[in-house]
Amino acid sequence: MNNQKKITVTSPLLPPLEEFIPYLEDIWKSKWLTNNGPYHQELERALCSYLKVPYISLFTNGTLPLMVAIQALRITGEVITTPFSFVATTHSLWWNGIKPVFVDIDPKTGNLDPEKIEAAITPKTTAIMPVHVYGNPCNTKRIEEIADTYGLKVIYDAAHAFGVEVEGESLLNAGDLATLSFHATKTYNTFEGGALVCHDAKTKQRIDYLKNFGFAGETTVVAPGINGKMDEVRAAFGLLQLKYVDDAIAKRKAIAQQYREQLKDVKGITFLEDFPEVRHNYSYFPIFVDEKEYGMSRDELYEKLKAHNIYGRRYFYPLISEFSTYRGLPSAAKENLPNAHKIANEVICLPIYPELDLNEVTLISNSIKNKL
Ligand SMILES: *Cc1c(COP(=O)(O)O)cnc(C)c1O
Repeated sequence: MNNQKKITVTSPLLPPLEEFIPYLEDIWKSKWLTNNGPYHQELERALCSYLKVPYISLFTNGTLPLMVAIQALRITGEVITTPFSFVATTHSLWWNGIKPVFVDIDPKTGNLDPEKIEAAITPKTTAIMPVHVYGNPCNTKRIEEIADTYGLKVIYDAAHAFGVEVEGESLLNAGDLATLSFHATKTYNTFEGGALVCHDAKTKQRIDYLKNFGFAGETTVVAPGINGKMDEVRAAFGLLQLKYVDDAIAKRKAIAQQYREQLKDVKGITFLEDFPEVRHNYSYFPIFVDEKEYGMSRDELYEKLKAHNIYGRRYFYPLISEFSTYRGLPSAAKENLPNAHKIANEVICLPIYPELDLNEVTLISNSIKNKL
């Protein structure tokens, strides 16, 4: 089957342009462009309510909250993390002069394997930084137990987990802090943007100082802060986006369900199932290609799909531990991370976004089924 129209792995959620114009007019009138303006404050309130979290601080992207989280908790030494993520996770540690220690993942979820954390703890370990990969919850209970036993902090990179709930509670409430990304490619976007979720007012205060150069008053600087503030245009845009995000998630769900239905009997292709206790956000639809069973490697399938104008993404590949900055670390050794290497070599994220037509999903599924 040949497909003329290019199908990309994602396409950003955008509201009708005319609905955004009044917000812009308002900002032009007030001339309050940034620094905790009215839209910034309103979006923080709206997100606390939508996400069911007590405190949130907005940022200009999803990487700065990771960097600020580390500063806010005064993390030092070594931090245990996963190689199966977007590079920003580990980069945030590196920028803070912290040594990342990679631990292997659970092949069933793609998330950090809690049972392998303890063996990686040293006297220098101060925190664990797991990632809810594809928005699928980590084993937060087990990670908390380990953190409590060893006196470690937990910072979740929850960039994929916007709106995800477990038994009715926000996944973002797990850990000491959790970070979000509102990048254009994410389920909920503000073009660029991000946030840091915390549990108490004092921590929020400290985070808000840190994201504003450390200013705690007109003439007081309490820490070497950074500029991480979200401006009014994007905060206003975020408010408008919130009106459309439930519909976007519902459309993503229908796409995921159709992929599952159509790919369930394809030998050598597997995918993740929903967990009954979880409200998923369907950020991604990863499939895993078993070369022997399927009769074609992941890379061959990826290239063949591309030749038919279907652009998946090998996400995450290569592993973070393979990049030049990190590959010399002892914990980056291939033998230490067998599951992560296996998954990174098998994964393709298939196109999923609200505007993707279900006929296109069928076309993609058939291409995979028939090996084109
Ligand atoms: C997108 C993403 C980030 C970084 O977010 P930006 O908003 O692009 O800075 C961090 N971690 C993970 C896992 C991500 O997917």
